[in-house]
Parts: sequence; C-alpha cells; structure tokens
Amino acid sequence: MNILVINAGSSSLKYQLMDPDTGAVSAKGLCERIGIDGKFTYKVDGKTVIDAEPIAMPTHAEAIEAVLAALVNAKHGVIGSMDEIDAVGHRVLHGGAKFTKSCLVDEACKQAIRECIPLGPLHNPANLIGIEACEKVMPGKPQVAVFDTAFHMTMPAEAYIYALPYEYYEKDQVRRYGFHGTSHRYIAERALALLGREKNPEGTKIINCHLGNGSSLCAIKDGKCVDTTMGLGPLAGIPMGTRCGDIDGTIIEYLMSRYGYDIKEMMNILNKKSGVLGISGVSSDFRDLEAAEQSGNERAKLALDKFFYETRKAIGAYAAAMGGVDAIVFTAGVGENGVANRARVMKGLEYLGAKLDPERNNTRGKEALISTDDSTVKVFVIPTNEELMIAKDTAALAK
Ligand code: AMP
Repeated sequence: MNILVINAGSSSLKYQLMDPDTGAVSAKGLCERIGIDGKFTYKVDGKTVIDAEPIAMPTHAEAIEAVLAALVNAKHGVIGSMDEIDAVGHRVLHGGAKFTKSCLVDEACKQAIRECIPLGPLHNPANLIGIEACEKVMPGKPQVAVFDTAFHMTMPAEAYIYALPYEYYEKDQVRRYGFHGTSHRYIAERALALLGREKNPEGTKIINCHLGNGSSLCAIKDGKCVDTTMGLGPLAGIPMGTRCGDIDGTIIEYLMSRYGYDIKEMMNILNKKSGVLGISGVSSDFRDLEAAEQSGNERAKLALDKFFYETRKAIGAYAAAMGGVDAIVFTAGVGENGVANRARVMKGLEYLGAKLDPERNNTRGKEALISTDDSTVKVFVIPTNEELMIAKDTAALAK
C-alpha cells in the first residue's frame, strides 16, 4: 500500500510516500516558497535527487502537481502512475474538541476544520489549502485528516479547564487542547510495546518528553493522555527554541505598557524571540547552545539549565498527577540525540526510582532502554514517527 503523507504550511509542504505496514518511505521531500516563486526538493531512499530546484508554485495545487510529477517520473519516479497512491493523509494542527480521532475528509470534516481556524489561525488555513489542493489534483482519492490535538481529548476536565470565567470555556472553547498529539500517540504505543503492556495498558503510567524545537510533555495513563503541557495554543508549557512556555500573564501587560507594543508585536516576541533563544541571545538550536556553554557563555548555560529544570519539574508534576510513573520516554530532536541533555533532565529524579545508566544513555536516534537494571522506572529513547501514525490512520480509514 502507498500512502502520501502531507504536512502543509502556509508557504511550504512536506511530503512522504510511505508503506503504512512496514513504515518504509519510498520518496519524500519539500515544496518551499509556495505563493512566492517555488522550490522543489525530492529524495529517494534518503538520497537527494532534486535539490531546491525552482518550479513555479503560485498555489499549493502546483506544489502537489510537482510532487506527483516527480513520483511518477520515468527516470527517478517510484510509482508507475497516480493510481498506485491508495490515499492521502494530512497533518492538521487543530481539531478543537470536535475531533477525538482522525477522520475521512468530506464536506463536514472540512467545515469542522474551518470552524477551528480561530483556534489554529496560523496552521489550519494552510492544512485546509493542502487538502483542497489534493482534491483538485487527485479528485476522488480518499483523504484523511489527522489532528495534532486528537490524542489529548481524553484529558479529564480538571486538566483541561483554565481557571478563567467559565463562560469563556462554554462560549469560546477556551481550554487546554495540547499538541504533538500524533507523536505522543506513537510513543504511547511503542512504550507500551516495550513494557510488554500493549494488550493490557490498564494501570500503566508513562511520561513522554517530546523535546525538539517545539517541546511538550504528556502524561499517559492506561495508554491515554491525561495531561499535557501545551494549551489552547502551542506557546504554553516548558520553554522551547523560541517560544516562552508558561509565563505570568502580568508580564504581557507590563511590557506592552512599558514599550508601547501592540498585541501582534507582543505575541511575536513570545513566539519567536523567547525560549532558549531569548535567554541565551545565542541561538534556538540546542547544539549551538551546548557549544556556547562549553566556551564559557553564561547565558547559554542559563538557557539550558532553565530548559532542563522546567522539563524535570513537569516530569515531577506528572508523576504526582498519575500517582507514580512506570516509564519516562525521550523523543524528538533533543530527546533522541541529546545525550548530555537527557542526563541533565534526569539529574535529581532518582527519588522517583529513575536511574539513568550513563553507558546505555550514550545513544542517538534509535530505540533504547537507558535506565539501569535496578531502576524501578524504565527510561527509554524512542525516535518519534508522526508520519507513520498518519499513514496508518489513513490506510485504516481509507479501507
Ligand atoms: P526537532 O524540532 O525535533 O527537529 O528538534 C530540533 C532540535 O534538536 C534542535 O534544537 C537541535 O539542536 C536538536 N538536536 C539535534 N541533534 C542534536 C544533538 N546531537 N544534540 C543535541 N541536540 C540536538
């Protein structure tokens, strides 16, 4: 089976052609600068065949056409014709409280995604454009929407409600939604399998740390999300590459009145200029920060210390929320590759019964148990695979 997985942004579109049963990716790539000029990248078996070549992409429809042309190309294509694509799966950012799982795209599904635009104003319009571009270029092909928020819809009310006047929840849907849900769901499944509990998840307590440029933690009890650090939007929780994470709302009023910022400028600071970039003034990239710290940069050290401290605190909070923890998982760019970063997060969590094995922890980018044999909490590295989750959901619903 061939599933085309699409992640459409406002001016970009990532794609992968994938077998949902084996996870094998036959081709993948990126369309950039859509609506500006257009650049097209195409890789087969991980090797770049077309590298940021200019191709006119006035809209997402031309980008999808370029993807299909490359996939069926006589020389470097991986399929004979478009008919060999069984279905298309789309990553959609915000499903509000409406979508608790993935859905086959029809008019009602598109309308519901449209209604969630106020909640995901940057991403949902682009996701919808990606869906409509596929409908135009591949009419009749089954399409599935997979929501970043869906996995979190099992949270209890005490976890998702904000302590604001209740009418904002009732009338305006203000609540915690959470993101990275497809990644957290993939990790939940893999962690349960590694614990030998995929068939009987009842009673299991897993904390997943998705640490990348965007970061969130998820408390997973009985295989289901019971809490997560991101909120109405992806700005909340632990500090990130450029996002501030949880801050006191008073700061917003204080800085806006002191500097005369309007709300757009203020939100730009919180989203793009804060996080570890904001503290360090060096970079949002953790490798740059580690290098700067090693050469004596105190603010880079502070940014990293803050990130590890808040991550450790969130792990403690989720252990308290679930009444214990069986497994802690590290995933995404920093979680999968940052050997020293994982050790620094885990430092001081021994009281929970979690002991890291320094030799086992010296691993990058592959599934591994990194705790000692006598650690009562198992600590794992599990590389995330959101695309595989999207492809699996798409295959199941398209059937
Ligand atoms: P992601 O958003 O999941 O792609 O993660 C991107 C982040 O992962 C960047 O901040 C990278 O610096 C970080 N990262 C990737 N490789 C490493 C590594 N070997 N050590 C530390 N951080 C890394």
